[in-house]
Amino acid sequence: MELASLGSGSKGNGTIIRSGSSCVLIDCGFSLRETERRLALRGLSGADLSAILVTHEHADHASGVGSLSRRFRIPVYMSHGTLLTERCSDVYRALCFDSDDTFDIGDLSVRSVMVPHDARQPCQYVLESDGLRVGILTDIGSITPHVVAAYQGCDHLVLEFNHDVELLMSGPYPPSLKQRVASDLGHLNNQQSADFLKQVDSDQLRSVVIAHVSEQNNSADRIERALVETLGHTFDKHCYATQSEGFDWISLTDDQLCPSLRAVNA
Ligand SMILES: [Zn+2]
Ligand SMILES: [Zn+2]
Repeated sequence: MELASLGSGSKGNGTIIRSGSSCVLIDCGFSLRETERRLALRGLSGADLSAILVTHEHADHASGVGSLSRRFRIPVYMSHGTLLTERCSDVYRALCFDSDDTFDIGDLSVRSVMVPHDARQPCQYVLESDGLRVGILTDIGSITPHVVAAYQGCDHLVLEFNHDVELLMSGPYPPSLKQRVASDLGHLNNQQSADFLKQVDSDQLRSVVIAHVSEQNNSADRIERALVETLGHTFDKHCYATQSEGFDWISLTDDQLCPSLRAVNA
């Protein structure tokens, strides 16, 4: 099982998971041309994708889904609510699921997990293959018991550390946007994300990719501080997904995952 990213953050997202002959793209928030450029950097074309999984209709996750899916005839999985939104109604073929359904895409078993976020019917995903479980969790305003239960036992996580509360509140966003981001239907702050790691037993996790980091309202220093203060010890199993490049292919069976990835992103 392998994992890569085309980019991560409020200007565009796309995460790739590959196992055996199955290769899925989770979200596509880039133009068709930019998506093809970024896929090529990972050695892929749109024709290599088995499916696109959409988490919700916000532009940074869904603006490129329709054109990519039509261009390469890729089926698109999403919740019924997401399909009802204008941004996701123009795909090549829509395959809709109910909240918390589990379904297979070739070698991958996919579970959708409903999350609190200010979209029509937003979800995130836990994928399993080769005896490994990978959780993708961004764009969630608050952690619910349901989410903690769904992400227990993950070997790897791609987890949002969106903002630092202090930086958000003293930063340049207008008051209404600050409120939206910080609300229970907005995005996770560093403390919430670090608390979540504690709740899902971070000792069992083999790696965490820190994702959807706000360029304006966060910093690596603040994230590192929240991790150490919350977990009570140095946490060294993580690395960062960037807006401009995401991250290159990593094998999820590689124990050296995070140190090598840090070097790539340094
Ligand atoms: Zn987003
Ligand atoms: Zn969103």
